[in-house]
Amino acid sequence: MGLISQRIEAMEESATIAMAQKARDLKAEGIDVISLSLGEPDFKTPKHIQEAAKEAIDSGKYFAYPPVPGYPDLREAIAKKFTEENGIPTKAANVVVSTGAKQSLANIFMSILDPEDEVIVLSPYWVSYSDIIKVVGGVPVFVKGTIEDDFKASAEQIAKAITPKTKALIYSSPCNPTGSVFTHDELKEIANVILPYENILVIADEIYEHINFSGDHSSMGSFPELEGRVITVNGVAKGFAMTGWRIGYISAPEAIAKACSKIQGQSTSGANTIAQRATLAALTSSLEPTQKMADKYFERRQLVHDLLVEIPGLKVNMPKGAFYFFPEVTTYFGKSNGDVTINNADDLCMYLLADAHVSLVTGDAFGAPECIRLSYAASEEDLKEAINRIKVALAKLT
Ligand code: PMP
Ligand code: GLU
Repeated sequence: MGLISQRIEAMEESATIAMAQKARDLKAEGIDVISLSLGEPDFKTPKHIQEAAKEAIDSGKYFAYPPVPGYPDLREAIAKKFTEENGIPTKAANVVVSTGAKQSLANIFMSILDPEDEVIVLSPYWVSYSDIIKVVGGVPVFVKGTIEDDFKASAEQIAKAITPKTKALIYSSPCNPTGSVFTHDELKEIANVILPYENILVIADEIYEHINFSGDHSSMGSFPELEGRVITVNGVAKGFAMTGWRIGYISAPEAIAKACSKIQGQSTSGANTIAQRATLAALTSSLEPTQKMADKYFERRQLVHDLLVEIPGLKVNMPKGAFYFFPEVTTYFGKSNGDVTINNADDLCMYLLADAHVSLVTGDAFGAPECIRLSYAASEEDLKEAINRIKVALAKLT
């Protein structure tokens, strides 16, 4: 019998977190690493949200355990947000506030999956989906889109992946790692495919909702034909530059919300009180600071695009949202610099970290071993410098 359970032994370490730590370690050694690995806004949490947290502390009212699924006024505000901004009919009873959208996702999979249940994961997919599914005994079934289709799997592909064991379908839009956005019509097509299978749920991860340059943020949860079958995941990390505050939330059918709350009652006892008060301020005040940040990401997207397309051998598409580029890098496979040979995207990321001192994440972690992910949630200066370094390092591969 091993010290660590087989379940956890089999689990991969989060590649995004691991690469970010490698960059931090090198920085601590005095090496000038530019970290484009972690999907983390480089902006500060807007002032009025910080102030709300300070007021919450000063009021002295928020030191005790919170209600497990979140403060009632916050759940009401989230229900209003889902209903009015996203067209997802939501009551407070459908809402659970958690310690980041990551915990929301873990709660959801624990709530709905029995061993061997399958989850169709639209791929490339966010790194943690597959391991959370597996650790609770489920089976991820990947349905992959390629760069030629903006990495979007088609409704026909999804139809072919459905089996009697399919319990759910999960996607993110805007997508991490590809930045792709499903249009309203594309989501309708997918909805039509799963509609006849009444036991299949949809999990829509909309955490990049506010970083969407396409002008179309559509939610499957707003489709009346799927009523009672969609769980929408969101959070404040990306749109409000609040990664460290650790607040995520869901709109789910009431039975699933109750199950998530039950899990939370046995694991965390609820999300941090002060962060919940800050989240209330974020969700009930003007979105202007959020829009300003999105405008900056929009400018950087163009900058990064124009620099990346100048690098011979990279295949680059124009992402519609989030803050990632996901270029295809297979032309470099088999090439070497001295005694370093690049056999795959992992090798390429390690090479770029060692040679260019730029940290990126291998596409392997997202189900696309032909790609690497670059986060452009960084200053223009760092982006220019990093991409120049990448260009120089890649040119040395022959
Ligand atoms: N979903 C996606 C698509 C993400 O990129 C992330 C990373 N922030 C999460 C969920 C988890 O978010 P949080 O930081 O709120 O746990
Ligand atoms: N979601 C971000 C990313 O993909 C943050 C890291 C994480 O939560 O894994 O880089």
